Amino acid sequence: MTYVVVENCIKCKYMDCVEVCPVDCFYEGENMLVIHPDECIDCGVCEPECPAEAIKPDTESGLEPWLALNAQYAKTWPNISVKKDGPADAKEFDGKSGKLDAYFSANPGSGD
Ligand code: SF4
Ligand code: SF4
Repeated sequence: MTYVVVENCIKCKYMDCVEVCPVDCFYEGENMLVIHPDECIDCGVCEPECPAEAIKPDTESGLEPWLALNAQYAKTWPNISVKKDGPADAKEFDGKSGKLDAYFSANPGSGD
């Protein structure tokens, strides 16, 4: 089991999650974060910290595509363990549907 970052992180990227992770297993893309599924110790501490409710346990149904996306990009995006300022327009995108198709970027973020 692992926790996964899901669609509502895209273009919200508040980053409250990274500061609480005891094993620093968040990785930063241009406009979302992912969790490395092999590094996550399933502590669950990050889940309630996310203002966008974008962190879920992979035991929830239907999250297989998100688990695959987290696993894929955790290999190439840089590690992040210190919170930075999120996007200025994060609130506008919080809760919007269709963000994966409309806005997902495979580009890496800048990391720590
Ligand atoms: S706190 Fe939530 S929205 Fe912010 S980066 Fe973490 S997972 Fe994404
Ligand atoms: S569940 Fe725990 S170990 Fe996994 S990403 Fe969240 S804080 Fe880190």
